[in-house]
Amino acid sequence: MDCTNAQNLLHGYIDQELDLASVMAIDGHLASCAACKEIYAQQSTLRSAIRQQAQYHAAPAGLAERIRAQVGIDTKPAPVKSIQRRWALPDFSRWLQVGAAVAATAVVTWTAALQLNGPDLIAEEVISGHARSVVTNHLTDVATSDRHTVKPWLSSKLDFSPRVSDLATAGFPLEGGRLDYLDGRPVAALVYHRRQHVINLFVWPETKSDKALPMQTLSKNGYHVVHWRDAGMTYWAISDLDTGELKDFANQYASAQ
Ligand SMILES: [Zn+2]
Repeated sequence: MDCTNAQNLLHGYIDQELDLASVMAIDGHLASCAACKEIYAQQSTLRSAIRQQAQYHAAPAGLAERIRAQVGIDTKPAPVKSIQRRWALPDFSRWLQVGAAVAATAVVTWTAALQLNGPDLIAEEVISGHARSVVTNHLTDVATSDRHTVKPWLSSKLDFSPRVSDLATAGFPLEGGRLDYLDGRPVAALVYHRRQHVINLFVWPETKSDKALPMQTLSKNGYHVVHWRDAGMTYWAISDLDTGELKDFANQYASAQ
């Protein structure tokens, strides 16, 4: 099994949907491949974060009735005897109609969820990326307050060159930089601190929209996040600093040269 095969099967592996032979093949690959093991760890963390924090919504009242009405089935459940008789007939077209209606509804719902939750899902990844760096004490791959060291190091590992500013005079000294993996791609993590608080600033090129986005804030699980887009790059600053100080940080970074 090579990396491409392993990574293609990783979702099924994490969701325990694979056959035993595939599971064993991936087990073997993960034991010997640090890169895939890292991706596996990231996806497992994301999966549990989503499971813990995703919002669930019950289907609206009457949805089942509307589907039944659309495909021409009696709204009221028929008595058991009559159901047995009806489904005993080889009336597969009705089953197909029901299946198609349910599938169409599911697709519409799923698409809406993706559109609504795209930024939210990235926010979840940002939060777990920050938490992971703090909990595992893996804040920096290159630990220096010298931006002239951090920037070339990150540029050599990534397909873009993040702007690195030293904001020590504004009260946010640079601690270093790190590679992270968010939104399905490697990203730059710039690490700053204020007093004992760590700030991760995740930076990567925006490919989904070329529109600038003014700063937006959100708070979750004791973390505060400031998100904006500018000049083709997307920025996510996260910390347990209060929102005011984190916005101050974001403004200082955005206006620095
Ligand atoms: Zn691999």
